[in-house]
Amino acid sequence: MYEFVRKSDPELAAVLTAELARQRGQLEMIASENFTSSAVLETLGSTLTNKYAEGYPNKRYYGGCVHVDEAETLAKRRACALFDAERANVQPHSGSTANMTAYLAFCKPGEKILGLSLSHGGHLTHGHPVNFSGLFFEAVHYEVDPQTETIDYDRLRDQARREKPRILVGGASAYPRFWDYAALREIADEVGAVFIFDMAHIAGLVAGGVHPSPIPYADVVTSTTHKTLRGPRGGLILCRKQHLKAINKMNFPGIQGGPLMHVIAAKAVCFHECLQDDFSDYARRVVANGKALADALLARGFRLVSGGTDNHLLLVNVKPKGLTGKEMEALLERVGITCNKNTVPFDEESPFVTSGIRLGTPALTTRGMGPAQMDQIAAIIDEAVQHRGDEDALEKLRGVSVELCADHPLYPEF
Ligand SMILES: *Cc1c(COP(=O)(O)O)cnc(C)c1O
Repeated sequence: MYEFVRKSDPELAAVLTAELARQRGQLEMIASENFTSSAVLETLGSTLTNKYAEGYPNKRYYGGCVHVDEAETLAKRRACALFDAERANVQPHSGSTANMTAYLAFCKPGEKILGLSLSHGGHLTHGHPVNFSGLFFEAVHYEVDPQTETIDYDRLRDQARREKPRILVGGASAYPRFWDYAALREIADEVGAVFIFDMAHIAGLVAGGVHPSPIPYADVVTSTTHKTLRGPRGGLILCRKQHLKAINKMNFPGIQGGPLMHVIAAKAVCFHECLQDDFSDYARRVVANGKALADALLARGFRLVSGGTDNHLLLVNVKPKGLTGKEMEALLERVGITCNKNTVPFDEESPFVTSGIRLGTPALTTRGMGPAQMDQIAAIIDEAVQHRGDEDALEKLRGVSVELCADHPLYPEF
């Protein structure tokens, strides 16, 4: 692996090698991460990175685009087939630029957008004040219900009636439950808003048929391609036929310059993989592992936001265990588990401290782990909390994590 870099740049090659070893040797439970296939990695490292292709297939501003046109056309066709969507734009460099494109296609700077609050599970790009979405637009937010910790659609309807947003944004980065798309559609129609659903986290579950699809309900669906979808780092927009022109124009020349053709080709490879029968089996196992992990943690007295999960992630409120999210993240790192601290709804701690952690199953499922391993991991987490001052005990637990990793090799072909 990395034979050319090793020859030309040993210093950087050492970084690449160390990162591969890190990914192999720890339990990756960051809910937004995954491991792409070798075919996706190979395509990312292809000569398509050399090509300028501003514009869209057969309408480029540069010559020599015959082959990259084929790659982009394949990516678009496969994305539409995978999600049963009318049209696709596969050029967004990331989930964030996909959202910027979708908002600016329908909404002028200064107009109003309504999205889920960051501290209740939403994403920065859903109107947070430090993000373009909060800087360009008048952003207002809905929250989850304090009792159920799930979205209260009646309250959201009242809020939408009062606020009359130009855009209603659905979707989240830390929400463990299904969405009521029909309710969101109805609310958007009632107040005359465009309904944009951001399925960045759940796209792979939607593709695998184990999570309801927003496509029949939303005007525009945005996504990333690197989370549960297990493709290259990048963005995706799916839309109704009548919205394609506005979306395309806003993405280029509105926001982006030359598309990343190596990434677009890798998206085509990813969509092809997702269209195979074994991908729905993968998605089913991701959700089964989420449930198994939730049950195993509940059985050990952990408190889960909303009481459980319908998807690939869970939020653990660790305050009842006497820890902050920041402390819990560091403790789990010590025992070989990588995750992130996360605010819980109505959190009293700052976003740098938090009261919770977010745990996801997509990456471990890619490594072939199942419900038995989820139970073992819940045991490691529980033991780590109980023996948090005891270095010997923690080192032993780290050994268990390392063993689990060794039993489920990552990129054995490298
Ligand atoms: C991850 C995520 C994004 C942003 O994706 P980037 O590729 O990191 O820009 C947008 N929306 C949601 C809901 C996400 O979870």
